[in-house]
Amino acid sequence: MEQYLIDPQQTQLQTTVISSTATTVQFAATIIYPGGGGQPLDSAVIVQGNHRYQVLAAERTATGIRYTLDRPLAEPSLPVTQIIAGAVRTRNTRYHTLLHLIAGLAAREYGCVVTSNQILSDHARIELQFPTHAAKLAFPLADFTATVSAAITANHSVSARIVDRDALQNEQEEVRTLVSLIPAAVNQVRLVKITGVDEEACAGTHVASTRQIGAITLKAKSKGPLKLRLQAVLTDSANAD
Ligand SMILES: [Zn+2]
Repeated sequence: MEQYLIDPQQTQLQTTVISSTATTVQFAATIIYPGGGGQPLDSAVIVQGNHRYQVLAAERTATGIRYTLDRPLAEPSLPVTQIIAGAVRTRNTRYHTLLHLIAGLAAREYGCVVTSNQILSDHARIELQFPTHAAKLAFPLADFTATVSAAITANHSVSARIVDRDALQNEQEEVRTLVSLIPAAVNQVRLVKITGVDEEACAGTHVASTRQIGAITLKAKSKGPLKLRLQAVLTDSANAD
């Protein structure tokens, strides 16, 4: 059970170990985001009695998420408590939602597609590919920053739903296209929607509405004839919610 998908603000969870080998471990439930979609692995520790273990790495496997700890668990048969760094999670969640907003608005206003994105400790970056070199040259950064800021202030709600691949004929064409890009072996797809702006497949953590992103700045850097890299910074240091 990936609890971070249900409540991205939960920072502590008691659970059990369902399998472990040396320093790797799988839990019955988890609040520790394993990384992916440009959002890094959470800063997390596992507590068991007087022992604290650092979570060093995570990978998604066919049977769930496997975490690597700094040393083997003393008692794999006993319950453990997961604790994540809440401020880091909140910041990553705000940046992650901002990246959706930028992607959706850049697609709608300028026909851009996103070729990569990444959240770092003090900024996030997103690479936009324009349909033509002329479109890239004409990109008005100040206007776009104002458009993104207005969408944040408009407080669009952010929601997620799970779609069964089998039930797709009932979905709108945009959703069918989105899901067709996901490997056929994946039966269920999580779609994250910013109402009125963007919907995309994503298994990351998001704020509940866009005003929680807070104030931003954007800078642009050319990355070849068609691409711009935007550097986004959240300028409200406090959690805006
Ligand atoms: Zn996302």
